[in-house]
Amino acid sequence: MKFKCKKCNEELVRLNLSEEQKLDIYVLMQNDLRIFAEKKLIDYCTLTQNEARIIAKHLNNRNGKCSECEFDELNEENTDCPNCGAFNYNLNEPVFNINFCSQLEWSLDFQNVENETIKYSVKEFWCDGVQHLPYDINSLLYKNIEKHKEIITKAWIGSGGDEIYEMKIKFGEQSLENYKNNKSLDECIPRNNENPGWIKLFMEDKKIEVQLK
Ligand SMILES: [Zn+2]
Ligand SMILES: [Zn+2]
Repeated sequence: MKFKCKKCNEELVRLNLSEEQKLDIYVLMQNDLRIFAEKKLIDYCTLTQNEARIIAKHLNNRNGKCSECEFDELNEENTDCPNCGAFNYNLNEPVFNINFCSQLEWSLDFQNVENETIKYSVKEFWCDGVQHLPYDINSLLYKNIEKHKEIITKAWIGSGGDEIYEMKIKFGEQSLENYKNNKSLDECIPRNNENPGWIKLFMEDKKIEVQLK
């Protein structure tokens, strides 16, 4: 089955990628390595260079956002942009993504870290970012989350928000369920003190652990 882009009139094949292959392409696109994504597509789907180039042109690198215009509410895979007509593969991305990482960043409340002895010194702490591409990219695959129930990434934390911490994000029942169903993890961040102690900070080791619901 083929799609046709209403904007450039190119014909496009349906991509049948495994979860692992999809993740590879996602990571390359997140790093703006479109040429490498094309190479992978040639391997995975047995395409010519030209076919791969045309496909890669229709891979949007932020889920929901059209690759050709500003429209950012595309909500399914293989879809035409209602604004400009361009076809977008709009491949599902892991729900541990840039949006969730900003939500997490804003929700870290250092007034309530568990460790009493460091409570005072971290009051002024804040977080200036959580990296959405973890150290081990394969930890984004659901089968690995199900097994290890955690993702380890880095975060920028400190009184200047600029020290690099290793951040372990632990999955609870609800976040595992959401991940499995490709549903946003935003609601799995404990809010308003509902789970005191969901953040553990180890300042000397520059490590932080957060427990999702
Ligand atoms: Zn097109
Ligand atoms: Zn568009």
